[in-house]
Amino acid sequence: MKKILVIHTGGTISMSENNTGAVNTNSSNPLMKQNNLSDKDIHVTSEEFMNLPSPHMTPETMLQLQTKIKNEYPNYDGFVVTHGTDTLEETAYFLDLTLSSDKPVVVTGAMRSSNAIGSDGLHNLLSAIRIAANDESKQKGVLVELNDQIHAARFVTKAHTTNVATFESPSNGPIGEVLHDSVVFYSMTKLIAPVKINKLVSHVYLLKSYTGMDADLFIHIAKKHANGLVIEGTGAGNLPPNVLPALQTVIDNDIPVYLVARGYRGNPEPVYTYQGGGEELVNMGVNFVNGLNGQKARLKLLIGLSSGLSNNELKTYLSNNF
Ligand code: ASP
Repeated sequence: MKKILVIHTGGTISMSENNTGAVNTNSSNPLMKQNNLSDKDIHVTSEEFMNLPSPHMTPETMLQLQTKIKNEYPNYDGFVVTHGTDTLEETAYFLDLTLSSDKPVVVTGAMRSSNAIGSDGLHNLLSAIRIAANDESKQKGVLVELNDQIHAARFVTKAHTTNVATFESPSNGPIGEVLHDSVVFYSMTKLIAPVKINKLVSHVYLLKSYTGMDADLFIHIAKKHANGLVIEGTGAGNLPPNVLPALQTVIDNDIPVYLVARGYRGNPEPVYTYQGGGEELVNMGVNFVNGLNGQKARLKLLIGLSSGLSNNELKTYLSNNF
């Protein structure tokens, strides 16, 4: 008999819509009333840990959730977290970076509220429980399951505003799926050792580049003595020339700067030598990060800094993603 702990944190999976179609939080999660989640092989315990729409999640609430799972680790064989889909990938990745993979941790949610026609919440929850109870799910890092697909937390992103098939791993695809009677994995994830954190640094920023970008936000970040900056560069990793002097000031102020590609697939590479091209950025002291979108690279930088890494150790941590 596998013992699974379901930890609810809120999101649409816990919400209801009213007769005008507006969706909002309930005073308590309707899934707590489901008493048919256990079967002869799986014993499920459910806990309403938070009741937050996921844009209200913060690194602090993610750390509370991580601490909760760590404290419960000896008592269960696997964990399911229900979460709003908007920022689900960030919480899943936070857990992925900071928890051991000895026991499965599966994060799920829903695109349709609990009382909507065709609500996907209960189905996703039951699938996530089956994944968490499956021995094959161990040593794969934190998993994300919605719409019968299993994704690695590291690569998954919310790709559609409303569709139930919203979650995608753009460069790699899902690593498995849930069938009627079984859970199937078809690829492995290279594991990265979890880091220990018990406090969080703040002021780690994320900027997206665009044509005609002005330097104001870089100037502000340089003055503010931020702890770190992630930039989503254009194409293979380039920036508009206008921001370069202010970016240099950020770097000269010892603020670590990391760059990811703003494109949906692929990895940044310092290829171009024109003004603002990737090669010039690397020469200025910008570090390129592979395999992560902006929000995840920013979270990884925040976690690396929070664990006390700096300089070359921080660079190695940020670059080690595959
Ligand atoms: N806005 C909701 C949330 O992230 C969306 C969802 O859960 O699907 O909390």
